[in-house]
Order: sequence, then C-alpha cells, then structure tokens
Amino acid sequence: MTYTVTLIPGDGIGPEVVSAAVRVLQATGIGFEWETVQAGLVALGKEGMPLPPNVLESVRRNRVALKGPTGTPVAGGHRSVNVEMRKTLDLYANVRPVHTMPGVKSRYEDVDIVVIRENTEDLYSGLEHVVVPGVVESLKIITEKASTRIAKYAFDYARKNGRKRVTAVHKANIMKLSDGLFLDCCRKVAEEHKGVVVYDEMIVDNTCMQLVLDPTRFDMLLLENLYGDIVSDLCAGLVGGLGLAAGANVGVEQAIFEAVHGTAPDIAGKNAANPIAMILSGAMMLDHLGEQAAGRRVRDAVDKVLAEGRKLTRDLGGTASTSEIAEAIVEKL
Ligand code: NAD
Repeated sequence: MTYTVTLIPGDGIGPEVVSAAVRVLQATGIGFEWETVQAGLVALGKEGMPLPPNVLESVRRNRVALKGPTGTPVAGGHRSVNVEMRKTLDLYANVRPVHTMPGVKSRYEDVDIVVIRENTEDLYSGLEHVVVPGVVESLKIITEKASTRIAKYAFDYARKNGRKRVTAVHKANIMKLSDGLFLDCCRKVAEEHKGVVVYDEMIVDNTCMQLVLDPTRFDMLLLENLYGDIVSDLCAGLVGGLGLAAGANVGVEQAIFEAVHGTAPDIAGKNAANPIAMILSGAMMLDHLGEQAAGRRVRDAVDKVLAEGRKLTRDLGGTASTSEIAEAIVEKL
C-alpha cells in the first residue's frame, strides 16, 4: 500500500528537518507518495499569499500532512498559517507527548507527559480590535462544544494509551466564565470515565511551578489553546528542548503532523537543526496511518542514536549536522 501525504516544507529550518524526516520515513519500507505544497513566508514570496488554496485542497484530499514550521510576522502582517489551517480544517486536538529520552542530559528522569491542547479557539480566535486609540480588545472565545470535544479526546486518548490521570489546567479563579465553562465541560466528561481515569484540576501558574519542581507527578495535561501552547514548550524544555518535541494536529477528517518548534531563524540554512522532533512527528503519523510497527521502529532507532550519544546536533551538545542525524537513524532502522 502507498500512502499519499501532503508535504509542507515551510520556512527557516523547515525544509531541512522535513527532508530528514522524509528520508527516515522512506527507509521504513512503507510506500509514500509525497505531494509537496508551499505555505508560509516562502509561499507569500512566490505566490503572494501565505496559505494558497492548493495547500488546504491537498490536505483535504490526502487527509494526512507532514508539515515544517512556518514563520509568522510579529505584531502585524499576515495571520498565522498554523492557526488558519487548524481552524479551517477543524484540527481541534493538538497532541504533544514529552518524555525523557535515553542519553539526553536534562534535569529530570522518568518524565512522561502528554499535553492535549485545544486547537481552534480561545485567544487564538483572531478577534482583536481597537476600541479607541490606546485601547485594544482581544476576545477569548471558549465554547461548550469545543471544550467538551477536547476533553473527550483527552479521556479517549488516556484509555487507548493506558494513561491513568488527566489534569485540567485553568485560570478559572480569575476568568470565571470562560475557564469556568472549560472546567465544567472537563468535569462532565471526567464523570463518564470515573474509576478508570483519575481527573484533577490545577491553576496554570501553579502548574508551571509544579512542572519545574517535579514533572514526574504529571501524566496527561488538558488545556485551552494559549495555556497549551506555552506549557507544551515548557514541557519540551524539561526533556532536552524543542529539537526533540513532536506533535500532531488531529481533526475528525484530517491530521497534520508537525514538531512543536518554530522556524529557528538563528540556525536556518546551516544544516544544524535537530531533525528528531520532526522525525518523531513522522512516527506519530505512521501510528495514525495504522502503521504502528513502523512507528515503533522509528522511535527505537531514534532512541538508539541518542543513547549512543556519538552523533548529536548542537542543541544536545554535539557537532553532527541535520542530515548526519537522519543517516544515523536510517542506519539503525
Ligand atoms: P523557535 O522554535 O523557532 O526557536 C526557539 C529556539 O529553539 C531557537 O533558539 C532555535 O534555534 C531553537 N530550536 C528550535 N527548533 C530547533 C531544532 N529543531 N533544533 C535545534 N534548535 C531548535 O521559536 P521562535 O524563535 O519563537 O519562532 C520563530 C518563528 O517560528 C516565528 O515566526 C514563529 O511564529 C514561528 N513558529 C512556527 C511554528 C509552527 O509553524 N508550528 C511554531 C512555533 C513558532
């Protein structure tokens, strides 16, 4: 069987880490046909828009995409391609597993957390306006529908993956209505899983402190969009950094697999980026396609390369290039 997958190289280090991931995925022996389309600053330059319609058409048709990071201008310019794609395709669940990797020096051992982030609303609704000069309003949208759906996703994920506890993270002491509604929905869904999956709640600022003090106490985190974005980067930092953190954006119809990191302009074009986050996102894609054995083989190969510690990129204290890491992983496969 051959899978047709939309390939979005993206900006900055995107093309480098995406081609490394393609190299590894091809080496699994699974048949892929890659439909390459451009999004982000590269598409803006070539086609005059950051998210040309053929990108969404391709993802809709193929239902699965592997995506590199795309750049978004700060305080002005076009809206984020990621936010646009997640909303348009209703990719409502952002799944970001973080765990201790063999051989990677970090402050803690035995970290194993799955961050589930709502991906379509909250302060990412893009509803901002100037009320009067000097006063702006950004609307935080929280709905019962999206909150219930993401809570269901988290608990279903817990059951399917043998996870024991889901912690809903919030600031409902201050945002009593919006975060209060989110919590209400989480509690209702949690009731349906009572006795199988433990449910608890924690205020977001305390969660950050507890994560830094002892991340091993957490199992799964369930968060709204903004808290999820911030806390998942924090979690990535606990296990060796953004070069290792994989992710998926999952909807009912389609799924896009991409690393947590951005375009890393400081190291772009130098063949120096760590491709492992992107490669592990590819492994998540294999699982999603029903190719779990191949997904496991990719993860095992990554673990072996990291455990040996002979070939590491600069972010992990080594000198190896992006492509050398890909080749080392292919060798282990
Ligand atoms: P970033 O993730 O690009 O970089 C943060 C730091 O981590 C940098 O020092 C970078 O060198 C390092 N880093 C990131 N990925 C790495 C890797 N694979 N290997 C080694 N080091 C790595 O975050 P930023 O600088 O805040 O954002 C840069 C751009 O990326 C912005 O335009 C932002 O909007 C965009 N972005 C895109 C996505 C996405 O497309 N999914 C996600 C986050 C940020």
